Amino acid sequence: MAKNTRYLFITGGVLSSLGKGIASASLGLLLQERGHTVTIAKFDPYINVDPGTMSPYQHGEVYVTSDGAETDLDLGHYERFLDIQLSRENNTTAGQIYYDVITKERQGKFLGKTVQVVPHITNEIKKRMTAFEGKYDVVINEIGGTVGDIESLPFLEASRQMTIEKGRSRVLNVHLTYVPYIKSAGELKTKPTQHSVKTLMEYGIQPDILLCRSEHKLSRDLRNKIALFCNVEEQSVIEALDVETIYEVPLSYRRRNLDEIVCKKLDLKSERPKMTTWSRFVNKIKNPTDEVEIAFVGKYTEYHDAYKSIIEAMVHAGAVANTRANLRWVDSEQLQGEELLKELEGIHGVLVAPGFGSRGVEGKIQAIEMVRRKNIPFFGICLGLQCAVIEYARNVCGLKDANSGEFGKFEHNVIDLMPDQKGLVNKGGTMRLGDYPCVLKPGTRARDAYKKDVINERHRHRYEVNNEYRGLLEEHGMVFSGLSPDGNLVEMIELSDHPWFVAGQFHPEFESTAVSGHPLFVGFIKAARAYKSGLSD
Ligand code: GLN
Repeated sequence: MAKNTRYLFITGGVLSSLGKGIASASLGLLLQERGHTVTIAKFDPYINVDPGTMSPYQHGEVYVTSDGAETDLDLGHYERFLDIQLSRENNTTAGQIYYDVITKERQGKFLGKTVQVVPHITNEIKKRMTAFEGKYDVVINEIGGTVGDIESLPFLEASRQMTIEKGRSRVLNVHLTYVPYIKSAGELKTKPTQHSVKTLMEYGIQPDILLCRSEHKLSRDLRNKIALFCNVEEQSVIEALDVETIYEVPLSYRRRNLDEIVCKKLDLKSERPKMTTWSRFVNKIKNPTDEVEIAFVGKYTEYHDAYKSIIEAMVHAGAVANTRANLRWVDSEQLQGEELLKELEGIHGVLVAPGFGSRGVEGKIQAIEMVRRKNIPFFGICLGLQCAVIEYARNVCGLKDANSGEFGKFEHNVIDLMPDQKGLVNKGGTMRLGDYPCVLKPGTRARDAYKKDVINERHRHRYEVNNEYRGLLEEHGMVFSGLSPDGNLVEMIELSDHPWFVAGQFHPEFESTAVSGHPLFVGFIKAARAYKSGLSD
């Protein structure tokens, strides 16, 4: 039966990076825990069609959905918090909207009309905002950027129109804002929030709920003041204090009755959620029984958003294994040779990150050689697997110039494009994206970790292990523990004479969810803990 879908719009004010994505995911989780079906969609006001081509410095990680869409990293938060699988329909950019509208215009679909932002662009946006109508109890639409940005305007206008069209009883506007503490005055200041709400009101949007991010507690008087100046009920001015871990945010919202207020306003009948499992999970993050030092070898080490999902997957796995993974960031472009080895001293495990291009690759290969020889647990992701194969080919199989076709033409391109990809390279469409099945070999660490014969993992890469070298690598002891069902593509490798040397051609981090974690990350942290306890024996 079609559902009477309610809509929540989440906007942000004052400044960026307040955590709209976490706010949306947290609210979504609370509603889901109350028994409602929820999905979350992100609207990004930039003109790029998707973030696939954007630098990690600009945009952070590119999150890949199971259907192979390259999306905003907030979708990662939604999937991790709610344990749901989203698709390309859950992320819309201004670029996609304009692309579709202009394509229709060229096809003559507007019948001679002048094509304008209102109504043509806003209609296209509303089409995406209502894509899940009838399918879920609640759709949360998060609008990227900050209120007042030129680019955000058509999206805010579309949400304003939806409030009228669907009716106020079915649409709520939640505004995330910032209440700064001015040290010299010793005071929290509400003016930035007042201005942000004023801007929203100029666009015709009256926020129903204000989530006020703050480093200090908001007194009743202050909340009253915000309520008065922003035309919002006092109980709907919600304090959103900084917390120790992002996974605490749903619990903190619940303590402040956010889910109750939302459900009342939207006439959604449900009980308050107990959040027992979630609370236990948060408690395990905050109070681990052990900790390990993990080297994170990559090239965007000073910009952690570039590796968001991996970092979160380590947190989830740490909770499952009751062991906190302290990450030591190692820049494989800056550090090589002795300096690199020095940086890796005292480490209990090494993770080699995914990446594109040759920068930092030689440092990654050196780090892998060290952990292979010293029996330190190693976990390679995508480019991490490719570097492990190159290292093995060079140092164990004796192919001195082994390398990847991504970095040039070498005598032994042990990593390369598959024959059917060659010649297509400049035409796009050569990237393997999204879910692919992988058959695990019995008796391997991979099979042990997953406890399944066939798995599905998400991909985002162009290059593969070159089948011409598989025989040689195998003869020298490399185990291909995961293969595509037709056996043509290497999906996982490991070494049987090493305590934990495991790598995947895919990105397991995109499948890691809070509470349950991901088997490979859990396996890696447990191996690191075993290595650490071996040191003290
Ligand atoms: N650059 C490599 C490739 O395209 C690896 C990509 C990755 O690590 N995601 O195959």
